[in-house]
Amino acid sequence: MEPLHRRQRKIHCDPDPVRQNATLVMLVRNFEIDDALSSMRQIEDRFNRRYRYPWTFLNDEEFTQEFIQLTSGMASGDTEYGLVPKEEWSWPDHIDRQKSRASMKKMEDDEVIYGGSLTYRHMCRYNSGFFFNHPLLLKYDWYWRVEPSIEFYCDMNYDPFKFMKDNNKAYSFVIAIPEYPKTIPTLWDATQRFAERYPKYIAKDNAIDFIVDDHKGIKGPYNFCHFWSNFEIADLNFWRSEAYTKYFQWLDEEGGFYYERWGDAPVHSIAASLLLSRERIHHFADIGYKHTPWLRCPTDDESYFSGRCLCNRHENFDEHVFSCLPKWFQIAGK
Ligand code: GDP
Ligand code: MN
Repeated sequence: MEPLHRRQRKIHCDPDPVRQNATLVMLVRNFEIDDALSSMRQIEDRFNRRYRYPWTFLNDEEFTQEFIQLTSGMASGDTEYGLVPKEEWSWPDHIDRQKSRASMKKMEDDEVIYGGSLTYRHMCRYNSGFFFNHPLLLKYDWYWRVEPSIEFYCDMNYDPFKFMKDNNKAYSFVIAIPEYPKTIPTLWDATQRFAERYPKYIAKDNAIDFIVDDHKGIKGPYNFCHFWSNFEIADLNFWRSEAYTKYFQWLDEEGGFYYERWGDAPVHSIAASLLLSRERIHHFADIGYKHTPWLRCPTDDESYFSGRCLCNRHENFDEHVFSCLPKWFQIAGK
């Protein structure tokens, strides 16, 4: 490090940014406006105001004029507002509604988080199977998922979309954590049967060792680790691929989005771990991020002492007993 009394700062600013074919995307409800603006303000200040990527907002109900006015005011780039088609936000025909209601009641009684919520199930299914084909997203290759009420602690001094593209990455994450087993009792069984039926979709150098311990492979038990999908920067064309389309349809037929409470996080994570070669998955170690209740902060000296980040590197989920990041590092060779 240079002596502290004399320090020249490099201002990383591109006056005429080259953008990738990408959008920031937020699925959100009108009443979440304050939390949406708070997330936007941070992403804008830390990154986007130098790039002016467009924002895409999706909702199962019409956005209010107030929501549109405030979010378009906060955005440095263009904004678009889309409605989720009704049929992508309701029980599909093959689902037995009585059985689904009974399952919700039981999971609510069991105090499973969001166990009794039908809209949460619609949301998880939508994020698993549909958002990437929304008419407003079809023109894009890349997205960055942003949720209301997140914290984004560090300056991003480069374009992560460009990084993803230049390095042939398809999926990325910051936090990895185990799923609640009670929400996905049969997800792994369904996945094992899918892999048996369609071996051609399983990638050669995949990341199965992230989700199954002790090199047991697809026949081994799921360890419940998943990439926390409230943050994602990823390739929309991966979700649109034949392999993922088939996988989602398979799961949707099984009915676990409604008979259990399958989350988009384990679905995306299992898919990325099986259908992509592991080099195509990236951990953003330089991003400081919080989604309640967990926070992670870059730990390297440069991030810590330069003022790039405003978080405490000692309060970091990476090393927490619940964190699945050590498993990721084992397979990614860190
Ligand atoms: P959690 O992160 O699992 O606790 O769930 P959230 O409540 O944060 O929901 C995940 C994402 O989906 C957030 O971006 C929410 O704004 C959004 N979301 C959840 N439920 C609904 C809903 O019923 N309608 C809409 N439009 N968005 C929803
Ligand atoms: Mn959330």
